[in-house]
Amino acid sequence: MLELQFYPISKPSITKLEKSFMSDAIESEWISSLGKYIDLFEDSFAEFSGVKYAVAVANGTCAIQLSLLAAGVGPGDDVLVPDFTFIATANAVKHVGANPIFVDIDPDNLCIDCIDASKKITPHTKAMIPVHLYGHPANMDEIAAFAKQYNLAIIEDCAESHGARFRGKTVGGIGDFGTFSFYGNKIFTTGEGGVVTTNSLSARDHVRNLRDHAMSPTKRYWHTEVGFNFRMTNVQAALGCAQLQRATEILEKRSIIREAYHRRLNTSICKTPQTADWASPTHWMTCVQIKGLKDDSRNKLMQLLKSKNVDSRPYFYPISDMPPYKTDANTPVTHEVYETGINLPTYTDLEVGDVNVICDIFLSTVEELNL
Ligand SMILES: *Cc1c(COP(=O)(O)O)cnc(C)c1O
Repeated sequence: MLELQFYPISKPSITKLEKSFMSDAIESEWISSLGKYIDLFEDSFAEFSGVKYAVAVANGTCAIQLSLLAAGVGPGDDVLVPDFTFIATANAVKHVGANPIFVDIDPDNLCIDCIDASKKITPHTKAMIPVHLYGHPANMDEIAAFAKQYNLAIIEDCAESHGARFRGKTVGGIGDFGTFSFYGNKIFTTGEGGVVTTNSLSARDHVRNLRDHAMSPTKRYWHTEVGFNFRMTNVQAALGCAQLQRATEILEKRSIIREAYHRRLNTSICKTPQTADWASPTHWMTCVQIKGLKDDSRNKLMQLLKSKNVDSRPYFYPISDMPPYKTDANTPVTHEVYETGINLPTYTDLEVGDVNVICDIFLSTVEELNL
């Protein structure tokens, strides 16, 4: 009954291991933000990412916010962000009182373009947030050189790219900070959750402090600045520890899914984004761009796919087009690319046979649309 199966865009991979770690956390009664799984999760994630320190927080958005604060970014400062990303990247900048400046993308790999960034720099620019979008790393050599030239902090938004590598280096340890999300649709999940990675001990201490109301580490209930409750719970961390134990398995399965999709989705009517020669991507979401697709036909395509039991989602809208950020950002590549693209079902437990069924349905539906 394969043809009756509904393929969601995403779902978590939860095994007995996740369940046993989580029930162990609950039975220990350490259900808030202290407990052995928090420490183990932070240590395992730092090791996984090849960085010195990882700080577990409540979600990926506050991970960016805390990194910006630890980098000294605040009201009156400008921060370069790609116009093509999930809204959280821009929101985190707003949450610290700074202004996001929207930068165009490289049409091949969909990540931030340093040439456009150099046109958008202002005397107030303090930081840059490259996003390793859909699992493909941004060009960190160019970004590092650019940031050095203008004395900018680099915060890598790795929410969609756990385990991706740039020239062999795992993302999250290349810039000053790396930020990760562990939302249910991300490569590894804790339900809700985030991590800040850094190689700086003082930055780690500052982020740790801010996540817990900036309570003095030496004088309990004495607070040194305005902090937050951005803590992760031990139960969430237990889920994360199990996911990290399965990291190799999860990444390998996703890489097989990626190959299976890419074999089918590069035709005369559609293509996948390219993989740069310096990139070892991870596969967060399958991306496909369809020749001649526009916002309207894209909605039609996604509706048709859904009626055939294949879920999909649109590429991100340009942030500079949406009400809270409406501005003329001059980002032609972002505007050209976004409406041609959709994402197809991508999750760890998807089989290659399923990918082929989905591709059959997708390709015949695109033909039917006759763009
Ligand atoms: C998911 C995501 C975030 C935010 O993570 P949350 O855990 O949902 O707060 C930030 N940036 C990007 C690019 C994302 O995809």
